[in-house]
Amino acid sequence: MDRTADVIIMGAGIAGTATAYYLAKGGAEVVVCEKGRIAGEQSSRNWGFVRQQGRDPAEIPLMMEANKIWRGLERELNADLEWLSAGNMVTFDTAEEGAGWEAWRQTAANFGLDATILSRAEAEAVVPGNAFDCHGAIFTESDGQAEPNKVTAALARAAEGRGAEFLTECAVFEVETAAGAVSGVVTEQGIIRAPVVVCAAGAWSGRMLRTLGLKLPQMWIKGSVARTTPGPIVSHTATWTGVAFRQRRDGTFNIAQRSADHDLTFESLLNLPSFLGSFARNKRDIKLHLNGLAFDLLAGSFSKAALAKELVANRTLDPTPNHKVLDHTLRELHRLLPQTAEVRIDRTWAGYIDMAPDMLPTLDALTNPKGLVLATGFSGHGFGMGPIVGRLISELILTGQPSLNLDAFRFSRFSDGTKLTPHSVV
Ligand SMILES: Cc1cc2nc3c(=O)[nH]c(=O)nc-3n(C[C@H](O)[C@H](O)[C@H](O)COP(=O)(O)OP(=O)(O)OC[C@H]3O[C@@H](n4cnc5c(N)ncnc54)[C@H](O)[C@@H]3O)c2cc1C
Repeated sequence: MDRTADVIIMGAGIAGTATAYYLAKGGAEVVVCEKGRIAGEQSSRNWGFVRQQGRDPAEIPLMMEANKIWRGLERELNADLEWLSAGNMVTFDTAEEGAGWEAWRQTAANFGLDATILSRAEAEAVVPGNAFDCHGAIFTESDGQAEPNKVTAALARAAEGRGAEFLTECAVFEVETAAGAVSGVVTEQGIIRAPVVVCAAGAWSGRMLRTLGLKLPQMWIKGSVARTTPGPIVSHTATWTGVAFRQRRDGTFNIAQRSADHDLTFESLLNLPSFLGSFARNKRDIKLHLNGLAFDLLAGSFSKAALAKELVANRTLDPTPNHKVLDHTLRELHRLLPQTAEVRIDRTWAGYIDMAPDMLPTLDALTNPKGLVLATGFSGHGFGMGPIVGRLISELILTGQPSLNLDAFRFSRFSDGTKLTPHSVV
């Protein structure tokens, strides 16, 4: 293969696929290169929460716009996405925690968001019959949920219908540049030339960009999820209490815990200085492990040829879920929602989240090299953002003028002295 395109997208997760959809809609010739299968990594492994609630203030305008897109997305894509808009609720245990949420609510209200603080009794009306041990909750009624296994696949079909081409099992080994500008990519299926390359490579973005001498700090955090057998319908509000859960239309629940695992790699050490603050804040919730991953991904940190081998050897990152945590999560679900006493775990999975030090994505068109566009680093909450990211990145490429301000998401914040503190509440 030796061919050309207007834009090459590296990675067919929701960010790359939504970008391809909007670019194709705008008339661009797009090729998406995916080392494994469409949405094989984070974009099919997430909880499916589509929330504005709890976001860093910089993300609130994006998520409010995303919410509008989500409401019409099934119609637009002519696909069942299992979209349900029954809100998002997070409980809190103490008045002090409640005060933190009230401060966030006021910030969100300035953007016009409909979040409200609920008493313990009001939370009962949202999730009836619950046994939550909470002081109160925050609730955003306009939030929703959708099925990750369906959304990116539907966006890809719609993008293909408008002429975008998806090459699966086609890892990008290298982004080529000439005279300070992107000129194309070297893939396992050959060379593709284009003046614009979008890096939407999820957990792999940091490693891919390092081959260009660019430093995107990323930490892989493993989240484990279980799906239960169907139970009686309790509530379709996506809820975060002792357990995070969402009940789907068929009565099954996705359940997970706040705690997560970090499998150490050489990259963990490289990125450690950028993450010390977040680790200190979240040390109770993150467990460190040294296992085979550290050795499997070692050589690729030093050589492009070894990285190419690792991309092919890891077509789809499929980490082992933390079964101990998930068994405990089911017991907690039974305790907190007594109506679920009969549900059992039906299947489990895990995914590596691409965490940034400030938990904000990077959405930027670089000038060095010119033509390199970044849409990555979604830090565990990029599923809900997917559609608006696709639209904004396509605007950035097609007109140079995104319709929302992306300054907070600029790549240079990692090197211009900006204090990288997470402001998202969850
Ligand atoms: C357990 C878990 C729970 C989550 N829960 C939520 C939630 O409830 N709500 C929410 O909004 N978000 C959630 N998220 C986060 C959300 O899933 C991600 O932020 C989002 O899917 C990121 O999309 P992406 O396209 O950037 O990355 P990905 O979906 O990871 O896609 C990146 C793709 O790039 C490909 N790739 C990488 N390198 C190359 C290369 N060199 N060549 C070709 N292809 C390459 C990969 O194979 C992959 O398919 C969760 C994530 C996890 C893991």
